[in-house]
Amino acid sequence: MSHSKHWDAIVIGLGVVGSSALAELARSGLEVLGLDRWSPPHPQGSSGGGDTRIIRLAYAEDDAYLPLLELSYHQWRELAAGRREAILERCGCLTIGPTDGELIAGIDQTAERHGLAVERLGADEIASRFPLFRPGGDFVGRLDPAAGFLRVDPALKSLLARAVGAGAEVQGGVVVDGWERGEDGALTVRAGDRSFHADRLVVAAGAWMPRLLEPLAAHLDVRRQPVFWFEPGAAAGAEALAPDRMPTFIWEHEPRRFVYGFPIRPRGLKIAIHHEGEATTADSVDRELRDADVERVLEITERHMPGGYGALRHADVCLYTNTPDGHFVIDRHPEVPEIAFASACSGHGFKLAPAVGAALADLTLGRDCRIPLGDFSLARLTADSDRSPRRIRGGSRDFRGESR
Ligand SMILES: Cc1cc2nc3c(=O)[nH]c(=O)nc-3n(C[C@H](O)[C@H](O)[C@H](O)COP(=O)(O)OP(=O)(O)OC[C@H]3O[C@@H](n4cnc5c(N)ncnc54)[C@H](O)[C@@H]3O)c2cc1C
Repeated sequence: MSHSKHWDAIVIGLGVVGSSALAELARSGLEVLGLDRWSPPHPQGSSGGGDTRIIRLAYAEDDAYLPLLELSYHQWRELAAGRREAILERCGCLTIGPTDGELIAGIDQTAERHGLAVERLGADEIASRFPLFRPGGDFVGRLDPAAGFLRVDPALKSLLARAVGAGAEVQGGVVVDGWERGEDGALTVRAGDRSFHADRLVVAAGAWMPRLLEPLAAHLDVRRQPVFWFEPGAAAGAEALAPDRMPTFIWEHEPRRFVYGFPIRPRGLKIAIHHEGEATTADSVDRELRDADVERVLEITERHMPGGYGALRHADVCLYTNTPDGHFVIDRHPEVPEIAFASACSGHGFKLAPAVGAALADLTLGRDCRIPLGDFSLARLTADSDRSPRRIRGGSRDFRGESR
């Protein structure tokens, strides 16, 4: 059954990236349709699982992200204005690691280059100011006051409301099987016995990208990533969890091994291991929690935050979609320039989605991009077979850690 309406653009995938692009395209005056296999927002993709996402400014990964962060912070504040439920909570982000480790060195470089206010803390000061954390002598900390966390559900709802408010149409429950380009250049999206027509396509299908965009398939690595919510343990009393004593945190607890966490207001702790997930696919991922998952994270908490984590409250299994160097791909399809796409994950894309959405809209409309995109091209992954972590811009760091 062919839908007669011809859209200016169709967005496939309405996670945080697709929803941002949909809002940007609708606000640019396009007739735009958003399609998702579930009814957005939902917990099945990388945007949905886990109620909160860290946002931070002193970006260790690479200062190529700074323009995206500035635009995204501005948009998250705009989206939050007038909303009853807060989207962004600025409780700071405490990053702990060895002085010469990837994380601390990356933050120091970005902070120095961009004059960002980041507080430097020694191990003793960390332990006295943030009682949950018990770093050994060879650890140091960096406190980013501009950081905190985003609340996933109001964030996604505000993006979709902005899109629909600007005239976009959203259809959930539509599983896209593929697309083709007609001789006239028009694009047809196929979904079961339905088809939709448009001049332009944006593909933001998260862990399902390999199925919808062949040029990307060889470069994306999907991983199973469990996330845990715990009751506070004996060492995490009210004082330890007070807002000024419990920021979000990222800890390089061993070289290139990372754990990160959040305070849960009013009482509780969320934590997860960054990367090191089991290779999987979006359709075959085992969403069941395993005892070994819990044991692995508690082994780390007991070493560095002893007594901080009590009974497990619940857990989710989510998906990372990683590129070989841990950086985003935001580009046009190499053979079909009417298609723009973004794989903006590798475990750090949520905070940056408003800027990625803006870039996708600029690519779709053929206008100058508001953010420098050169660093995020597909060509950087296809240029040569060297798969090792690469520099996007002098001094970039790759936090994929060793896959275990
Ligand atoms: C556990 C975890 C913790 C994270 N922590 C952070 C953090 O602290 N800070 C941060 O900035 N980032 C974090 N991230 C990364 C961030 O969440 C992702 O980068 C971001 O959510 C990716 O969004 P997306 O829209 O590209 O993908 P998704 O949210 O997966 O959206 C893709 C959408 O495409 C739809 N779709 C797929 N195939 C089809 C099809 N065939 N037809 C129709 N629809 C389709 C799916 O239903 C889905 O809604 C984390 C990720 C995970 C998993």
